[in-house]
Amino acid sequence: MTDSQEVLNYCANESCNAPIHFGQEVWKAGSELVCSGKCLVAKLGAKTVTAGKEEPEGNE
Ligand SMILES: [Zn+2]
Repeated sequence: MTDSQEVLNYCANESCNAPIHFGQEVWKAGSELVCSGKCLVAKLGAKTVTAGKEEPEGNE
């Protein structure tokens, strides 16, 4: 049997770039596909933080 899942695309998050297979659940950002919510926020330049616990940057 062939175990070759068809690769349709690659994750738009450049630091991930995982292959996206036929039938896989993915996130769509405009015309781009990412493999996970984590990659979606990375692609959008967002990051997850804990509300009220953000470290102030460059400030002691
Ligand atoms: Zn990804």
